[in-house]
Amino acid sequence: MTPLVELRGISRVYPAVRPVTALRPTDLVVRPGDWLAITGRSGSGKSTLLQILGLLDRPTSGSYLLDGDDVADLSDRDRTRLRASRIGFVFQSFHLMAHRSALENVMVALLYHGCPRRTRPERAAEALERVGLADRALALPTTMSGGERQRVAVARALSIRPGLLLADEPTGNLDSQTAEEVLSLFARLNGEGQTVLMVTHDRDVAARAGRRLDIVDGVVSEVTHRA
Ligand code: ADP
Ligand code: MG
Repeated sequence: MTPLVELRGISRVYPAVRPVTALRPTDLVVRPGDWLAITGRSGSGKSTLLQILGLLDRPTSGSYLLDGDDVADLSDRDRTRLRASRIGFVFQSFHLMAHRSALENVMVALLYHGCPRRTRPERAAEALERVGLADRALALPTTMSGGERQRVAVARALSIRPGLLLADEPTGNLDSQTAEEVLSLFARLNGEGQTVLMVTHDRDVAARAGRRLDIVDGVVSEVTHRA
């Protein structure tokens, strides 16, 4: 089986008068159906790793195979296209358009995905149904709870049927009960075969995932559970 993600020696240095090495050379293999949590202190390099995985940023060195395709050296335009077709992203602060309905928010992702206009409403409604928000499709984010907003963001990410679902602190802005709702959703999606990579600084959250990577000052290591 081809790995979904294969990183070899991936690093990221942010150029500056004193350059910042945010990620030291990293190897990582993610297989279809894996659920990984990425933990580490603030500033350790979690978002940097996720942004490289999500084709939002480019590594300084190393190779990145996504579903067997070499994506490290793609042009900006090709990376954007690939991201829109294969990767779903969920952010801590939801990033929804406040004055558009839940349905319209999801439809925008389908537009960038290249989904034909006439099938977008149906695909968007389907995604909202998967996150339990079928009855809130026409609601504005401003009228929704934090948990509902994050579920709209998850629906938006899922609507394109991404091989890879990435989430950067998806429960960071939620109270513990609502966070649990969103986590159960990720657990269910992973149970249905969705590959998930999730950044969190919460160890209890991380414990729900099948694999855990811990980052210390840009050095990534896999935490193996002991019986
Ligand atoms: P985390 O998500 O774990 O908090 P980040 O990946 O955001 O950590 O950051 C890792 C390191 O890289 C930090 O030292 C941060 O200050 C630095 N960094 C992040 N983004 C940039 C950037 N665009 N330019 C310069 N330095 C950055
Ligand atoms: Mg971060």
